[in-house]
Amino acid sequence: MKKVFIATLCLLCFACSRPDLVLQLQNAKWIDLTHDYDSTTVYWPTDVNFRHDTVFYGMTEKGYFYSSFKYAAEEHGGTHFDAPIHFHKGGNTIDQVPVSQLHGPAVVIDIKEKCARNRDYLITTDDVNSWEHQHGRIPEGAIIILNTGYGKLWNDHQRYTGTLKKGPEGVAELHFPGLSPEASTWIITYRKVNAIGLDTPSIDFGQSKDFQTHRILTAASLTMYENLCNLDELPPTGAYIVALPMKIKGGSGSPLRIVAIIAQQ
Ligand SMILES: [Zn+2]
Repeated sequence: MKKVFIATLCLLCFACSRPDLVLQLQNAKWIDLTHDYDSTTVYWPTDVNFRHDTVFYGMTEKGYFYSSFKYAAEEHGGTHFDAPIHFHKGGNTIDQVPVSQLHGPAVVIDIKEKCARNRDYLITTDDVNSWEHQHGRIPEGAIIILNTGYGKLWNDHQRYTGTLKKGPEGVAELHFPGLSPEASTWIITYRKVNAIGLDTPSIDFGQSKDFQTHRILTAASLTMYENLCNLDELPPTGAYIVALPMKIKGGSGSPLRIVAIIAQQ
């Protein structure tokens, strides 16, 4: 009898709450945080650029229109997702990252001023703590979004990455801000978040030689998003992130479609 009562109660709750959630999602503002993929998309200087070739485009012999293309891409270029295996042996590959880790409440930390003054700025624990003093404790399961302001420079590769050179020469000249190893250690030690994303090519700053921040975060099973855009449209709190990477079996990273959802009053 008790079981029947609980089952009925669950059904009632489901019936009441579900339409509400659907309505909220339908009426919400959806913000795309994703850059286009084309031949100009930013890739690491040692990587091959995105390729998109025509297989067929036009009228077929049978009189109907048809188009189809093929693409080739490195895992870690454009707006993309880093899985824990990227810098941590034995870490989850893309397909192994649980769906529960692909979404969460956004914590948006604005460090644009400091990053504008210093291309090599390393976001500190103080930056994270001062956000908390203003907006409250970073909630469990959060997705931290670091707004460096560099997303706006995307179309100017020289200003976005610090160089136009390719190969190891280009890598040596990369200059863009990133998250410091000490702040990464603080986050994984004292807070429980799903992911960290930012609007630069890498979570480690451009001049990093040992990718310490990637190593610290992936060792703690965090995932990362790089080359995000439209971060100025996000409030410090209140947005909800959904980040869906291409499910490459065994992949260390992949192109990512990422959106933020903001409930309307
Ligand atoms: Zn990456």
